[in-house]
Amino acid sequence: MEGFDVVVVGGGHAGCEAALASARMGCSTLLVTLSLEKISLMPCNPAVGGVGKGQLTREIDALGGEQGRNTDRSCIQMKMLNTSKGPAVQALRAQADKKLYEDNMKRALAAQQDLKVLEGRVASLIVSRETIGGVVLSDGSSITASAVVLACGTFLNGKIVVGDQRFPAGRMGELPATELSANLTGFGIELARFQSATPPRVDARTIDTSRMTLESGDADPQTFSLLSKGHELEQLPCYLTYTTEKTHEVVRDHLHHSPIKTGSISGKGPRYCPSIDRKVMNFPDRDRHPVFVEPEGLHTSEMYLQGLTTSMPVWVQEKIINSTPGLEHARLMRPGYAVEYDYAVPSQLEPTLQSRILKNLFLAGQINGTSGYEEAAAQGLVAGINAGCSILGRDPLVLKRSEAYIGVLIDDLVTKGVDEPYRMFTSRAEYRLLLRHDNAHTRLSPIGHRLGLVPREILCLTESTEKSVHRLIELLSTTRVAPSPSSDEFFLAHTSSPIKETQTLLQLLKRPEIRLADLLHEFLPERSESPDTLNSAEIQVKYDGYIRRQLKQVERASALEEASIPTGFRYADVPGLTIEAREKLTRLQPRTLGQASRIAGVTPADVSIISIYLRR
Ligand SMILES: Cc1cc2nc3c(=O)[nH]c(=O)nc-3n(C[C@H](O)[C@H](O)[C@H](O)COP(=O)(O)OP(=O)(O)OC[C@H]3O[C@@H](n4cnc5c(N)ncnc54)[C@H](O)[C@@H]3O)c2cc1C
Repeated sequence: MEGFDVVVVGGGHAGCEAALASARMGCSTLLVTLSLEKISLMPCNPAVGGVGKGQLTREIDALGGEQGRNTDRSCIQMKMLNTSKGPAVQALRAQADKKLYEDNMKRALAAQQDLKVLEGRVASLIVSRETIGGVVLSDGSSITASAVVLACGTFLNGKIVVGDQRFPAGRMGELPATELSANLTGFGIELARFQSATPPRVDARTIDTSRMTLESGDADPQTFSLLSKGHELEQLPCYLTYTTEKTHEVVRDHLHHSPIKTGSISGKGPRYCPSIDRKVMNFPDRDRHPVFVEPEGLHTSEMYLQGLTTSMPVWVQEKIINSTPGLEHARLMRPGYAVEYDYAVPSQLEPTLQSRILKNLFLAGQINGTSGYEEAAAQGLVAGINAGCSILGRDPLVLKRSEAYIGVLIDDLVTKGVDEPYRMFTSRAEYRLLLRHDNAHTRLSPIGHRLGLVPREILCLTESTEKSVHRLIELLSTTRVAPSPSSDEFFLAHTSSPIKETQTLLQLLKRPEIRLADLLHEFLPERSESPDTLNSAEIQVKYDGYIRRQLKQVERASALEEASIPTGFRYADVPGLTIEAREKLTRLQPRTLGQASRIAGVTPADVSIISIYLRR
């Protein structure tokens, strides 16, 4: 086969973004994947976004990735979460039509110039002088490439467990990739083992939703992507029910069948997403656990049971389901299962996601020890961009922690490594008030545009919204309201105290109970700003003090972030470091003092010792 600039291995969420990014940058790209029928398949809940994750998807869109757009096109329910809380934790969450999501992604790949797709299994890497030269397929054919992105998900030596059955598989019904793990280990890449599990699916026609709480989406749903023009698909509701004491009794009575107890699964799973077996074991006093019943698409009756993850035998799963209100007669369509797989220890990566061991080999997605479509897509995008940059001789893209959740994600992975499948939470971002849903495009679209991934149209739209926000804030700061009977009436109607002296609209907007839309409606009724402009202006005014404080923190930390540590620096030569710090720093080889300071066990005193040593 002909040679390519970039070969991407894996057509999952990471691989699709990587392939699209590298091709959009003008590099000839090949995406090799095990099955063309399973491109960007969602093996777990077909839901994208949520708190922390939604910000990632928004950032992917701002940088010119596909996930946001594809989710909007396939969306059957959209909700802005945490609207009653602060802007740092507000995020979009979408329920997608699983099949449409795959079809739409396939369409995007097919429409992309410079991108070819091939069904095949990559068995090994072609490497010469510690530099990647391409891949070898399981049929023995070679494909040369100047850069390779590995995005193999849960397929490396994958093993599925359901009850006492344990068999090789990457996902249910799909064969694993067995040769590649040994090949990677042979090059000195360290692998470890994690596991993930998915709940059973039931037939919508056999559930009683009248016994559940209706969970509707937003009446006026937003989109992840600035390129999307609203939602075209019918929007469907989700439902909420709860397990009962009877459910817990069934679980307890059959725990001896649970892989947790039998030990048939050894890889570590995500703590934040425990199985029902573990919840019953760990929280014996809880009398119920929530179960969200969510549709998988417009043309399927499969309903996902979020909260009932288990890999117990199928007959036990049925008992668990049928003991839950509204699911008494539910018919199982797909059993839940767990999958155990190899991942590559991510501290072996540069912040560009390039391997420190093999030049021009990039790794992205679940293979790096993460879990989730958003985390995978974010890494895929960065890996694809950096593979492209290395081909084109451009500076690589490394996003800072103060710039993007994607920066936080990658910095965490490469600096600290992982001890359980990594998922994004807002609490991981120390500057989360700066990394909001509403300002993702302002933060990142100029970068995406420079890379050739974001069209001029989006950049202009972003810049014009930004200008409108500034103009509006300026107007608020110069428009004054004097005390009067009508202003008294306005404030009392909004449970706010009437003003005693003239104040600007900006001062009034700082009151938590006063909303910008109401102020404008009352005092500047001729204004007609877009909802995005209103939202951003309101956040910037109300949270001005906190935002300034975080910006100061970023400035203070920048000295550490910019102080680089030479490659191969010998910590053994630095007197005064603790033994733990010396061991971890030697192993993890941070690139900057900022990275060093985030390694668990490295104290501020250790960081100053290195800093002084480096300045000598
Ligand atoms: C059972 C299960 C439960 C999960 N539960 C959760 C959960 O609770 N929460 C959550 O957030 N996420 C969960 N996930 C994870 C989520 O599905 C993944 O994080 C996400 O899909 C990872 O994307 P990826 O692109 O890295 O890999 P994947 O989506 O797994 O895609 C990998 C791709 O690589 C291809 N491939 C693999 N090896 C080769 C090879 N050698 N040659 C060619 N192609 C290859 C495969 O065909 C596949 O297309 C679960 C996944 C599974 C399987």
